[in-house]
Amino acid sequence: MNGEDANSYVIKNVVEELVAFHLDDCIAAAGTCGCPRCRADITAYTLNHFPPRYVVTEMGDILVRANMMTPQSGADIIAEVMQAIKVVSQSPHHKSESPVG
Ligand SMILES: [Zn+2]
Repeated sequence: MNGEDANSYVIKNVVEELVAFHLDDCIAAAGTCGCPRCRADITAYTLNHFPPRYVVTEMGDILVRANMMTPQSGADIIAEVMQAIKVVSQSPHHKSESPVG
């Protein structure tokens, strides 16, 4: 029996989950570029500007789901994602039709 090994704990940043959850809607609402590079930049910007909220989950994401249920943090994160979209879309890093380094 390896009972100890069966208990694995995962530390998760709930903010990261929420950003991923809201990203598509925010990009669609802003009508901005949703290529993989821009999505990554928007996510990175948001996570750099929003305080992380770590939770410990035990073999599953029940706790994460519970923490995602707070509407307040959802609204705050959406606002931060929209700000990130504004910044990223002003100077996108993706390779576009214009050959800029
Ligand atoms: Zn892009």
